Amino acid sequence: MALGLALVAGAVMTSCGDTPGSGPAISPLRNTPTLTPVAPERTPTEVPTAEPTGKRPGESEVGTLMPVVRHGARGTKKIALTFDADLTAAMRKRLTSGKVKSYYNAELIGNLRRLKVPATLFLTGMWMEQYPGRTRELAADPLFELATHSYAHKAFTKDCYTLASVPKRAMLSDVRHAVTILDRLDPDATRWFRFPGGCYDGTALHELAPARLTAVQLDVAGADGFAKSARSIVDQVVRNAKGGSIVVLHMHGGDTAPLTGKAVEPIVRKLRAQGYQLVTVTDLMS
Ligand SMILES: [Zn+2]
Repeated sequence: MALGLALVAGAVMTSCGDTPGSGPAISPLRNTPTLTPVAPERTPTEVPTAEPTGKRPGESEVGTLMPVVRHGARGTKKIALTFDADLTAAMRKRLTSGKVKSYYNAELIGNLRRLKVPATLFLTGMWMEQYPGRTRELAADPLFELATHSYAHKAFTKDCYTLASVPKRAMLSDVRHAVTILDRLDPDATRWFRFPGGCYDGTALHELAPARLTAVQLDVAGADGFAKSARSIVDQVVRNAKGGSIVVLHMHGGDTAPLTGKAVEPIVRKLRAQGYQLVTVTDLMS
């Protein structure tokens, strides 16, 4: 299926892996879940069909496919830590019933501020509706840049873990809904976008092209969702991150990513001790 779509899209697939000094990876077709570790060395490098250029970071040119980036240039000592704020209908139910106190991980954000770590935050529309004040605070903080993560954290493929799917005809309006909410709360909102679960295919990239965003995938999954120990998150990130990496972690805390706040300080200290500079996605890709 993916190959057929790639051919339709005119994409050229090659088998070479990442090489030191290679430029940012921009790929038209990947289907890389964020919830399980991904082996970055196996990443094929595809010829880009569209460069993410435009006035806002991540704003793409009009094209037939939404561009996708997976990592920055390998020759740099830069790494982007990114944090997703999920909120599904089921999570909101647990919030309103009092089962979960909060899906804003104050410990995590506090640690990022104390350690002065620039980061890119991918927010679902529902999360922003739940936490408009927090969203404004984060937008006003020069450490952070804000991006979108769909409206309701539904999948853009039919088989993405246990996530419900967005029907094809509703994909564009779902994403535009999230962008509209973010633009209301953040005048400097970027045009970076992350697929829920990291799941996408050629149909999704085609449907979402008119939104003129750029999808940001990852080459290091922090595996902080339902993690049993902060140590495992730290090891997972530090072992796999390298120059140009995009690391995915979560900022909603609560019952689904409870240990990210504890893991972030050792991650930051260890990466910095190795000479890495932590930057936003915009900085990494520029
Ligand atoms: Zn997510």
